[in-house]
Amino acid sequence: MGTVIDKKKIKEKLETEKDTLLEQLRDMGKLNPETGEWEATPEEVKFPESDQNDMADRFEDFEARSSMMKTLEPRLNNILKALKGLNRESFGRCEVCKKDIEMARLEANPAARTCKKHMEG
Ligand SMILES: [Zn+2]
Repeated sequence: MGTVIDKKKIKEKLETEKDTLLEQLRDMGKLNPETGEWEATPEEVKFPESDQNDMADRFEDFEARSSMMKTLEPRLNNILKALKGLNRESFGRCEVCKKDIEMARLEANPAARTCKKHMEG
């Protein structure tokens, strides 16, 4: 018998990470229902008479949020994919060698689809 993959534990981990990511994304923007993509929301202009510096700051904030969201979104999608795949029999098996993925690796990255030997990078 090999290591039993603790799906419940992994699911909890995925759900927690999903919530954290969603919280961060909601802080910075909103999900566009038309494209299904997260978009940064521009800050509301409270002082229309604000000077050029303020405008530049606001633009930088928006840019920073946009790029932050671009890194969070694929992580969220990965987690959603992993959650979907969790109930499949093939979950926890390496896509390359079809062997069980090490539990330690799954705990560190529940969305992992390959074993340590076949992980990218
Ligand atoms: Zn492998």
